[in-house]
Amino acid sequence: MDARKVAAARLWAASRMPYLASALFACTMRADPGSRTIGVDRSWQVRADPAVVAELPVDELGRLLLHLCGHVLRDHAGRAEALGADAVRWNRCGDAEINDDLGEHVPGVASELPATLGCEPFQLAERYYELAAPGPRLWDCGSGADGCERPGDTPGGLDGRQAELLRLGVAAEIQRFPGDVAGGWRRWAETVLPSRVDWRRVLAAEVRSALAAVAGQVEYSYRRPSRRAQATRGVVLPTLHRPMPDVAIVCDASGSMHERLLARALAEVEAVLARGGIRGARVLAVDTAVHAVRRVTRAAQVELAGGGGTDMGAGLAAAAALRPRPSVAIVLTDGFTPWPDRPPPGIRVVVGLLSEGAEWPARRGRARW
Ligand SMILES: [Zn+2]
Repeated sequence: MDARKVAAARLWAASRMPYLASALFACTMRADPGSRTIGVDRSWQVRADPAVVAELPVDELGRLLLHLCGHVLRDHAGRAEALGADAVRWNRCGDAEINDDLGEHVPGVASELPATLGCEPFQLAERYYELAAPGPRLWDCGSGADGCERPGDTPGGLDGRQAELLRLGVAAEIQRFPGDVAGGWRRWAETVLPSRVDWRRVLAAEVRSALAAVAGQVEYSYRRPSRRAQATRGVVLPTLHRPMPDVAIVCDASGSMHERLLARALAEVEAVLARGGIRGARVLAVDTAVHAVRRVTRAAQVELAGGGGTDMGAGLAAAAALRPRPSVAIVLTDGFTPWPDRPPPGIRVVVGLLSEGAEWPARRGRARW
């Protein structure tokens, strides 16, 4: 097989859709003489007949690689199985789902389009499957497209878990990608990673707004002499004083809470506080009880005790009991906790719900405020 041509086609494809690059390079390529096609199997191995590779120009081969990546990224094999779909009809419908986007961004589309199936564009393969007019398969895209094992399929590519991680990674790439992303890929990424919100930005914004609300409460104070005192001998004038918010961070140290996740969240909070000029926040490690209250200047100084069940209500109550009383409390938890009926009076509470992965278990507790 012409390895230079394959490498050139990959680069061509990666330059057309850079956000799919990690998927493109995860697909291994091996020769499958006599198959008369270039397809992808369920473990992301592209099997190519060298004779077909020789016939295709570099850009056509690159377009095909993007197309085959589309099948495995969109888990067309798993979806075909779930539907109990007929392989040929499903392959055509999967092609139409992918080619919607390739048509816009990649020249030289040859295979199935929604229009050739007699359907409206920008729908899922399942919908095309319901509506498509019957017809022959234009290209055999392999078991990665229709879920039906082929004689030459061999283990050795990605397993299910690796594939799922790669999907999450590519979806994150798409959401971070600063340039143009084909609409269909944007929609796909939203289904894989439902939260498009950058948690760092949200956490920082929440913490900043709590700090600003507190710091904005300008008070008169007699702590320093007024600069106007010279003019009014015998009278002590107050000065305007902007109190620095006193911050308590309540950390979930229960067994369900992932320590690495908490360390990342703490580091983010620390960075936000530092930018706000606030140092030495008090940190409470809480499971069902409060284990340690320390005034720390860096997240690295936090040692977490605990490991039992969780009650963030106990943590908030302990924060409210601190002297001096904090004006802002930042709670970092995985959410598996009961909450008090209302936040402690006079304290702005920011809750950072930490989760690894995309799922959001239903049994998490909810605060009503
Ligand atoms: Zn295909």
